[in-house]
Amino acid sequence: MQLHWHRDDLRCSDSVALSAAATSADDRGRVLPVFVFDDAVLEHASPNRVAFMREAVAALRADYRARGSDLVVRRGDPRDVLPALADAVGADRVVWNRGHSGLARERDAAVRDALDDADVAHADFEDAILHEPGSITTNDGTPYQVYTYFWKKWRDREKDAPYDPPNPDALWSPDDVDVDPVDAGASDADAIDPGDVPSQADLGFDEPTANLPAAGTDAARDRLTSFLESDVYDYADLRDYPAADCTSHLSVDLKWGTIGIREVHDEVVAARDFADTEADYESVEEYRSQLAWREFYAHVLHYNPEVVVENYKDYAHEIAWRDDPDELAAWKRGETGYPVVDAGMRQLREEGFVHNRVRMIVASFLTKDLQVDWREGYAHYREHLVDHDTANDAGGWQWAASTGTDAQPYFRIFNPTTQGEDYDPDAEYIRTYVPELRDADAAAIHDWPELSPSERQRQAPGYPAPIVDHGERRESALAMYEAARGD
Ligand SMILES: Cc1cc2nc3c(=O)[nH]c(=O)nc-3n(C[C@H](O)[C@H](O)[C@H](O)COP(=O)(O)OP(=O)(O)OC[C@H]3O[C@@H](n4cnc5c(N)ncnc54)[C@H](O)[C@@H]3O)c2cc1C
Repeated sequence: MQLHWHRDDLRCSDSVALSAAATSADDRGRVLPVFVFDDAVLEHASPNRVAFMREAVAALRADYRARGSDLVVRRGDPRDVLPALADAVGADRVVWNRGHSGLARERDAAVRDALDDADVAHADFEDAILHEPGSITTNDGTPYQVYTYFWKKWRDREKDAPYDPPNPDALWSPDDVDVDPVDAGASDADAIDPGDVPSQADLGFDEPTANLPAAGTDAARDRLTSFLESDVYDYADLRDYPAADCTSHLSVDLKWGTIGIREVHDEVVAARDFADTEADYESVEEYRSQLAWREFYAHVLHYNPEVVVENYKDYAHEIAWRDDPDELAAWKRGETGYPVVDAGMRQLREEGFVHNRVRMIVASFLTKDLQVDWREGYAHYREHLVDHDTANDAGGWQWAASTGTDAQPYFRIFNPTTQGEDYDPDAEYIRTYVPELRDADAAAIHDWPELSPSERQRQAPGYPAPIVDHGERRESALAMYEAARGD
């Protein structure tokens, strides 16, 4: 018997470790899949993410049941749970797909030690990204610090095809005569009874605050299929316009691994083969380039685990971030008086998701207009985003704060008014999330900071005046960064 330890790879298909275990079942024994609700990981979780994860675990269990097997669910410390379960079911190997964050790597090392102590073999595999850290480097072998060069190599590299789901014969079956739960040696007789997926409350979390997308591989495939049917060909032109809503919404699936990256990439390439025009082809390439950003940030995190808490880029002096709890609270509530910023912050609350262009706008507003430390923004995103991904979130925040690899230069400061005008000209996105502005005309919405108090009162009496003056804050942000640079 072998164990496959699921973590953020909540699927049966296109899994490198699961496939490796299943294809060796004749020699090494059948595969028993297990998911462990790990308290140390839950410490960093949030209601929205836990809710999605629980749904995805339940969908994974249904997938295994449809294959005549089942998913064993446990709660505890994997250092204890995995050796005990291996002992209980007579497994002599545990396999899993690797993580890239510092925490995941520390946990994996501790589990490897525990399995070594218990004399259980183990193997881990690269699965989450197409090209593992170390495989795309500069000519002298150092990791890239600039995305464009990374992309050029990533783009042209051959990619693996998706891995097949396990053959049902390779999976443990609850009726399997070879496994005797009573003989398991564990303290409780139902040691291998899969049991139920624990509730939010069981795990110590409140109910989710956002309306979450459906979880599981079927839902992920539906999102991919509907994106590739048409939106992918408009992606290059429309991806920056939040009202067009033409992006794939796959971030949550790639974060939780409800779909494999090889499967996604293969389907994307198939859509590229269907491109009728050069523009359609380039649009699909634009999408592939976003998948490459994800891999670039995974490499950055792998080599620099501290980017989650520290600036990647060194300034000569500390950046003198402002500490203004009222402004920070107004940003979180979506009540800054800058319509596109407020729409983004409210989309975050309602959906646990924000459109990419708007993530950049609200992050720039927090770090440049309010001059609040990007770590505050990261913490808030981590609390609410259902797709929160350590590598991408830290990468995105440090980009906006001009502290990251390849970051926005400190002197290029987004103007939240012109960003709203350029990317949501009819204020359609803004009106969707800011009901106070629903009856205001688009010109007034975009001119909001310039309107007189009486005009604001006439257009949208319930909507706040801007909490800061962008022009003034732009100057003070430049001064803040120049002081940190020592200019
Ligand atoms: C401040 C900030 C924080 C962010 N936090 C996260 C996060 O926690 N999790 C997350 O997955 N993405 C994050 N992003 C990146 C990006 O905004 C989201 O991946 C994207 O909006 C998700 O929507 P989608 O799946 O429809 O994207 P699509 O446009 O359809 O892109 C396809 C996939 O490519 C990847 N991708 C796209 N853009 C980026 C990018 N800029 N960086 C890295 N990968 C990218 C994602 O996996 C995404 O699902 C952040 C960006 C910023 C500016």
